[in-house]
Amino acid sequence: MILDNKVAVITGGADGIGRATALHFSSNGAKVVIADVNEEKGSALAEEIGSAGGEAVFKRTDVSQFEDVEALVDYTVDTYGTIDVMFNNAGIGVNKNFLEHSIEDYHKVVDVNQHGVYYGMLAAARKMKELGVEGVIINNASVFGFVGTLGVTGYQAAKGAVVTLTKHGALELAPYGIRVVGVGPGGVNTDIVEGYRKAGLLEYMESQQLRRKMIEPEEIANVVGFLASDAGNVMNGTIVMADDGFTTFKSDIR
Ligand code: NAD
Repeated sequence: MILDNKVAVITGGADGIGRATALHFSSNGAKVVIADVNEEKGSALAEEIGSAGGEAVFKRTDVSQFEDVEALVDYTVDTYGTIDVMFNNAGIGVNKNFLEHSIEDYHKVVDVNQHGVYYGMLAAARKMKELGVEGVIINNASVFGFVGTLGVTGYQAAKGAVVTLTKHGALELAPYGIRVVGVGPGGVNTDIVEGYRKAGLLEYMESQQLRRKMIEPEEIANVVGFLASDAGNVMNGTIVMADDGFTTFKSDIR
């Protein structure tokens, strides 16, 4: 199994891409710490993994609070003895046009989607360095860290920052043997896209993907599993686009 004996933390692990990744990691031999603000779904998932013979625990964590993220990393090491993989995945969507986006909206989404990723990188890297672990940090970016779209001002800002933080982190942490990589999903079938649906962006996303349909969370989990495994050792400082061609230039003119 590609993640045998790896200890992996997944923020936003209770639902969507995080949930699919927790199941994928566990079925590939990892011990999983599910971190989320949703205690009900997070605890239920840990139990589900346990009943299937895997190892998982839930830790309530708000990634926008650095103390929470530090406590999460400490809890992981107390529980499983180390930390090999940190998947900074938690995210929210605020769907409002630029002129309607309030300052509060902007800060809310940046606090979770940008600062939450930075806090996860920092807390995990400090612990990995302290323990001498040559681990991997994976950040969930988005196609919207690369291309412009309508209606998600703070989200665009945050995802752009996740892209550059990933490159920066890879350079800074390479001397300690820590890899930092990102995944850049296109439109994935999870609750977060409800806001996009209401904003009329879902059909647009589908139309930009080469299969003309939404991606399933399990398909993103497969990519993250590879990045987390030793098979992905050459992947560093890059964002792997898992977007069904969303960011590929294409023309309908034939
Ligand atoms: P989702 O809503 O299904 O899952 C997000 C999870 O994050 C939920 O379990 C939620 O409770 C948790 N969460 C929210 N705020 C949190 C906080 N402050 N602290 C801890 N946990 C928190 O959505 P998803 O699509 O699975 O999103 C996961 C990541 O994937 C996000 O970073 C999102 O931006 C990114 N992404 C999603 C898509 C898509 O189309 N679904 C596309 C590109 C990138």
